[in-house]
Amino acid sequence: MLWLRPTAVQRYESCGEQSRLVDKEGWRPNETSSALVFGDSVHRGCLGALVARADGQAFDPEQTFIARWEHHLSTTNIQFNSTHGEESLREIGRALCRSFLAHWDTLGLVPVLSDRGLLVEQRLRVRLSPTVGLSGEPDIVAMDGNGQIWVIDLKTPATASFEGFAGIAEQLTAYQILYDAHAPSMGLPPVSHMMFLEGLKQNNPRWVVQTGPRHSDSWVRGYTEKLLKTAQLMQEGYYPRRTAAAYNSPCSQCDMAILCQTGQTEGYVKGKRKPETPPQDGNTQVTEVA
Ligand code: SF4
Repeated sequence: MLWLRPTAVQRYESCGEQSRLVDKEGWRPNETSSALVFGDSVHRGCLGALVARADGQAFDPEQTFIARWEHHLSTTNIQFNSTHGEESLREIGRALCRSFLAHWDTLGLVPVLSDRGLLVEQRLRVRLSPTVGLSGEPDIVAMDGNGQIWVIDLKTPATASFEGFAGIAEQLTAYQILYDAHAPSMGLPPVSHMMFLEGLKQNNPRWVVQTGPRHSDSWVRGYTEKLLKTAQLMQEGYYPRRTAAAYNSPCSQCDMAILCQTGQTEGYVKGKRKPETPPQDGNTQVTEVA
């Protein structure tokens, strides 16, 4: 059974060789990008606050961010970029986590408490065929005052997504498919709205929101068809390199470039996958729909 994650499909589309090295063989650079560990630390602070609030527990998002950030600094080789160093990211993360709950409360949404638990970073799986499935973890599934369902992806980009992206982003299409497949068994309605909740990694850090409608049936069909075709190529062992043209080559941003181009493994490790915003402790549940 091949379980596809939305990020892995995006990587395959970007370059088959990168997908083979990272997702099939398990290679990763010795150094992890600061963007990844920063995003993980902000997720831990903000989503942890929603889980704790639902449990009636005291929780400090800012302190949780700091603890997670310091943990990463002491255990991970982090590659910082020229825009934000360690101190800058610490202050931005603290500010975002400090302001998160106040911003969240302006949205008029409540995370859904289902019979499977709170729908915050719940891993969901759907079988698309006898040998292929989709697996993903929507950050938040929430309900508004009208009983309508919102699928929310929390991000920490440097700049906000371009206008309209929430209405077409394939990662959100994947979450819609996953949630909708489980909704009937949870006694819940299907998705009505999409949202990117973005904590901007800027010197003036702030939360911005982009909303979009439920993705259309044709969009869902197209994405599902792509998942099945991609899985077929992966199962056949077809992982083509894609260098594209100079102006849009994925190679210029590829952290697997040395291994790909020279075969040298120095600077890389094989094994555990890079962290992708790990789930909240005690709030992970894998459920499948055939
Ligand atoms: S360097 Fe280019 S061809 Fe090689 S894995 Fe990276 S993106 Fe693919």
